[in-house]
Amino acid sequence: MSITTRFAPSPTGYLHLGHVFSALIARRRARDEGGRFLLRIEDIDPGRCRPEFATAIEEDLAWLGIDWDGPVRVQSQHLPQYRAVLDTLAARGLLYPCFCTRSEIAAEVIRSTSAPHTPDGSPLYPGTCRRLSAAERAARIARGDRYALRLDMVRALAAVPGSLTFAEEGKGVVVCNPAQFGDAVLARKDAPASYHLCVTHDDAVQGVTLVTRGSDLQPATDLQRLLQELMGWPAPVYAHHHLLTDSAGRRLAKRDNAATIRALRAAGTTAEAVVSLAREAGEDISAR
Ligand code: GLU
Repeated sequence: MSITTRFAPSPTGYLHLGHVFSALIARRRARDEGGRFLLRIEDIDPGRCRPEFATAIEEDLAWLGIDWDGPVRVQSQHLPQYRAVLDTLAARGLLYPCFCTRSEIAAEVIRSTSAPHTPDGSPLYPGTCRRLSAAERAARIARGDRYALRLDMVRALAAVPGSLTFAEEGKGVVVCNPAQFGDAVLARKDAPASYHLCVTHDDAVQGVTLVTRGSDLQPATDLQRLLQELMGWPAPVYAHHHLLTDSAGRRLAKRDNAATIRALRAAGTTAEAVVSLAREAGEDISAR
């Protein structure tokens, strides 16, 4: 089977050296193994994503000579597909509407004795709206209350027999613990579908066989494997790579302007030098 990899940035800022490192890994694997390297713009969150950053991603990659195969997939152009997945899960009784606001959830969590957080950094949802009756749900929807859609984790796990695992290159089989996400949000009040839902859907429809991405996303794989299993999608192999850091050892972030490709280019750095910088920074850190 021929390999398909992808680079899937969110257009919430300009690309930095860490992104280039990540894109190079995915592209190198595809090129070395005669496969495909795809570019996907993950712009599902209208509050954080901006079209000018999406344009800049393509421009920066082109300037760097990092070419991709086929058309760019832009998530915001595929909303009916994500809606169809939500409908499928809802028809199986695996989703419920959640009317809670962030502050209501925070207050509820403070009242509880333990305050665990999910790997995404949000408080573990205490299940308030899961306990609403069908009539209460219908009444609140009818009066126009806005709601998110949450996965009923207990039901979802019951729908998937056996334990969930994924193959991590260099490590072997990793056992998943999706329950640590609790009743994860799959559609937000202000975003039509969640990152986890879109990423697994797109990896499946695009035939991605190897997911290369930063180690910060490794915990997300547990929930994504559950979604794949629920939807009958194939499981890619995963290769989570280390994250580039600045000289102070802090993870590079889009807010750090100095490491953006734009800033390096404006300072006169050539595309070849930027690619070398990203490669060297990656090698440097793997030697630590
Ligand atoms: N869009 C995600 C991000 O920029 C990456 C998704 C993925 O590689 O799975 O953090």
